[in-house]
Order: sequence, then C-alpha cells, then structure tokens
Amino acid sequence: MARIVQKYGGTSVGSVERIQHVASRIERAVQAGNELVVVVSAMGKSTDELVSLANQITDTPSKREMDMLLTTGEQVTISLLSMALQARGIDAISLTGWQAGMKTEASHGNARIEAINNERMEAELAQGKVVIVAGFQGISEDGEITTLGRGGSDTTAVALAASLKASRCDIYTDVEGVYTTDPRYVKKARKLHSISYDEMLEMANLGAGVLHPRAVEFAKNYDVPLMVASSMEDTVGTMIEEEVTMEQNLIIRGIAFENDVTKVTVSGLPNRLNTLSKLFTTLSENQVNVDIIIQNQYDDKHVNISFSITQSSLKETLAVLQEAQEELQFEDVTFEEELAKVSIVGSGMVSNPGVAAKMFDVLAKNEIFVKMVSTSEIKVSVVVDEADMVLAVEMLHEEFQLAEETEEAAVTV
Ligand code: ASP
Ligand code: MG
Repeated sequence: MARIVQKYGGTSVGSVERIQHVASRIERAVQAGNELVVVVSAMGKSTDELVSLANQITDTPSKREMDMLLTTGEQVTISLLSMALQARGIDAISLTGWQAGMKTEASHGNARIEAINNERMEAELAQGKVVIVAGFQGISEDGEITTLGRGGSDTTAVALAASLKASRCDIYTDVEGVYTTDPRYVKKARKLHSISYDEMLEMANLGAGVLHPRAVEFAKNYDVPLMVASSMEDTVGTMIEEEVTMEQNLIIRGIAFENDVTKVTVSGLPNRLNTLSKLFTTLSENQVNVDIIIQNQYDDKHVNISFSITQSSLKETLAVLQEAQEELQFEDVTFEEELAKVSIVGSGMVSNPGVAAKMFDVLAKNEIFVKMVSTSEIKVSVVVDEADMVLAVEMLHEEFQLAEETEEAAVTV
C-alpha cells in the first residue's frame, strides 16, 4: 500500500462534471490499494471572481478579510469532492487548512508554512478514509486564517506529502506535464520525461506557470518526488526529482519567458562606495522588487544603474525614486516598457562553456537586441523587446535542439 498525495488544480475541478471525473480517478487509486490525501484548488476562476467582488467594495480591502474571503473557494471544492466520493461508496472526509493542522506564520496573503500537525489526518487515514484537504490555506498561531499566496495549493500538496511521508506527490493539472517551453506559444515544445528540482525551480521562478516556485523549493528540501500530469488524460507526466539524466546532446532543459518587464535607468549617480547599497535599500524599503541589475561607470565621478522590475510596479518605483532624488543625488531617471525576459535553463550548462555565447549568437543572427543579461550556474536570462520574445524563444528552442526526442543518456548531472 502506497501513501500518495494528489493535487487537482482549479481547471481540473472547474465544474460538477470535472469533480465527478476527479472522483473517478481517486476511486481508481483507492481500488488499487493506495492511501490517499487529496488537495484541491478553488473551482475554475472562482478565486479571481472573489478578488473582483472585494474590489467592487473597496480598493483597499484588509488583508485579513481578503484571506477570509479567498479561503472559501477551496472550501467549496473539498466538500463537493468529498460528497462525490461518498456517493460512490468511498469513505471520504473534507478538511480545511486548520483542520488539517496546517500552521503558518502570522501574515496574510503570502504566509509561509511553519509546521503541520498530522494527527487529525493520520486518524482519518487510519479509518480508511480518503482525506480531502483545502489547498492554499492555513492558520496562524493566534488563530487567524491565512493564505499561502496565489497558486499556493501546489505548496500545500508538497508540504503534506513531506509531512505525511507520502511516497509521491502527484500534481494534476490542465497540461500534460512540464514542457521544454510553453506549448501555447511554441508549437514544437516537447513534454519532458523528467527535470531536476533545481532546473524546475529556475523554470518556475522565470515564468513557467506550471508549478508554484515555493512548492518546488519544498519538494527539493524534503526530497519529495513530484509528478506533474494531466487530470483529463491518462498520459505519462513529467517527474521532478533530484537526479535527472541529461538527455543525449542536450545542454539545456527548457526555455522560460515572461513579458511585462520594465527597465529603469537611474543616471548620474555619484560614483561612491555606498551608491548601490543606498539605491537598493531605498527601493527595498519601499517594497520594490528588483530583478536584473546593471551598473555602468561613465566617468570618474558618475555611474548609471539600470534594473528591471515588473510593469505594474513602475509607477510606485518612479514615485520612490523621485522622493529620494536629493538623498541619492542622481541626475535623471528613464525607463523602457514592453520588454520581456527569455531564459534558458539546464544543469548541463555547468560543464559546457559557451552556452551564453551561443545564445547571444542566435539572438544576434535574428537581429534581436539584448538589453540586459543575468546568469546563474544553470541559467542565462536576457531582456529583449516584448515584440521579439516569441521569435527569440523559437530560435533558441531550435538551436539547442529541444524539439528532438532523444534517448536518455547514461550521464547523470
Ligand atoms: N485558488 C488559489 C488561486 O487561485 C490557490 C491555487 O489555486 O493554488 O491562486
Ligand atoms: Mg496552479
């Protein structure tokens, strides 16, 4: 008997028919002799609809009440799914986050999980029940209902799998797995057999929406084997685990991309030891999240600093800088909108020099201008015009031969 945690996303439970379909999948897993804990998201777009209801009342809803509101979405799904199972003669029980023992820090909107008290879940499992847990929610020490941030049900599932020592965590979703790149944009995108935690973490952080980055981090830290697969089709999904063989000839595993990037340049800053620290302390104190940073010295006395942010934080960023102009002693601020970030990711890079060079070469040949660059051991990101984004991804996908199905090589990276 294996203990398995399954998670079904919003689309997979988006209607009564889909909930029935999920129930039939759970039934199969139970009949195969498995012990099951199932985490579900809110139905379809219902979380968005709840957000919109709040926004119709006020522009500034309190974070506490927002969590109170949003957690109702998952509560609808757990009860309906439990009913669907019971109607099939399967013993099931739904539990909210707090009933399941999900303890989080005392912060609203994006709380981190602190501990899980398994007692209740273990007791229900011991009675042979399927335990259905509301994703994305928890409770703080002072008894407040919290949420884990949008998309947080993945994290709930992985955390439960770690805590309950499940043999795996299966994330069922509306795509068939993790792809070399987003198949909605690039037709030749190919489903991966497997990908390492580190690569997946980069992909998730760089805009591949298939998994919540924090869920991947959790899986890596607690060594939970993760599988992403379709809830609609019975196809093989993608395994996410520690050691993954690199497919033959492949240096990179995938390409992630996101638009909505804005580049801000602060020019004429004094060329002093503490200039960088002063600038970025000011920004971070005002909750401006900065991604790529570039510093240029243009004469003995002055530097220019560019950094990228999301489009939606531009107004706030400009306001913060304006406010601090005297203090920071810069001359001017300019910005460039409608940019995108394209990133190649793969552990094969570590032992293969020239990956970035090849990337720049492909982009140059296609007359795609690179505006910013950032690298880590297993990724290279470039900022380009949003209009060039899809072309850049297609050309890189081609050049790094990601579309080709290759034999799994015997090298482990
Ligand atoms: N329902 C929440 C959201 O839409 C959590 C989740 O689906 O993971 O963000
Ligand atoms: Mg999701």
